[in-house]
Amino acid sequence: MKNLNLSAVSENLTKDIGSRRRELIDIAKRLGENGLLVRTWGNISVRDGKDHMLISPSGIRYEDMEADNICRVNIRDLSWDGKLKPSSEMLVHAAAYIARPDCEYIVHTHQTYATVASCLGIKDLKIYSDDYDLRIPVADYALPGTARLADNVASCLNRHRGSDFILLSNHGTLCLGESADECVEQSVYMEKACRHYLTDKCRTDLDCGIVKGYDSHMEDGRIVYEDGDVPQRVKRIHEEIYKKRPDVSYIVHNKSEASLIVSRRATVLRPLLDDFAQIIGTGVRIPFNYHGRDGGRLIVSSKVNCVFVPDDGVYCLGDDLEEARAAALIADKACIAQVAASRSGHGKALGLIDCMKMNRNYRKKYAALAKK
Ligand SMILES: [Zn+2]
Repeated sequence: MKNLNLSAVSENLTKDIGSRRRELIDIAKRLGENGLLVRTWGNISVRDGKDHMLISPSGIRYEDMEADNICRVNIRDLSWDGKLKPSSEMLVHAAAYIARPDCEYIVHTHQTYATVASCLGIKDLKIYSDDYDLRIPVADYALPGTARLADNVASCLNRHRGSDFILLSNHGTLCLGESADECVEQSVYMEKACRHYLTDKCRTDLDCGIVKGYDSHMEDGRIVYEDGDVPQRVKRIHEEIYKKRPDVSYIVHNKSEASLIVSRRATVLRPLLDDFAQIIGTGVRIPFNYHGRDGGRLIVSSKVNCVFVPDDGVYCLGDDLEEARAAALIADKACIAQVAASRSGHGKALGLIDCMKMNRNYRKKYAALAKK
């Protein structure tokens, strides 16, 4: 078992609750600056005495988070107080604090390369990065927010007592630290190491994010393109999407390297990652034989928030710009995962029933938040 760093623990005990809350916001800011935490995805906590933790709330953007939004949760019985509901992943944090009494801070992210590495079906990643031999254990899959996922995390931490970071299969990362700095540094290091792993073992070295194509939005019943000079072929794609999806108001066209590869090579994009099932859908069919010609076939489904066009990347749909951009980021990560999985011959797609549950829950939760 890892030795307890009592000086770090006692130093944290002397901090008042207000400064710990501010520290969480600072961690979120630093993770955001490193591109590891976006929107409301992921969560951060700090231990507060023997039986409590402070944790980021559910459904609030990190850039909007204020100290009094942070919730205080009992790690034994999960009772909580605060203005906002704690993150639904509080069970995982509580289980980790109980399994690891030396841990003072926990960061959970859906950061791209580490999350992609988590979906390859490998239980124990062995990575050589920056002159270090690194081992990253992977906790077994369970639906997010469930007691089963918390149990899987606890048993993974118990089996690997020396590991300060683990992956959650098909979902994301968990970094445990004795200080805020340690947690941030570990998250950054893990991302770099996992990118090396994907390059070496899966022959997949792809940048992540959005490479702008042709975006548009609906205004007073007509399509407004963000740029002039839109080819007729592209206009037809936008027109058909808005016609078949009257609920959509924004389209973000992502021509990232990974999206282009998948749009050229794949006929289906299966959910390898939780956030894909939640935000995009339970699977995406990709048409072939379109090749950008007029009159080709598009597959626009009422339950899938992106549309692939062969050799042209992916058109991502949303009720507002933020939602469409979120779909574009998630689709890009899913495409990197698809390429890594197919090149390495590993990768296990999530079950359809699990995906349907996640998709339904996500829609319900965000519909309720939007109403508020
Ligand atoms: Zn998560």
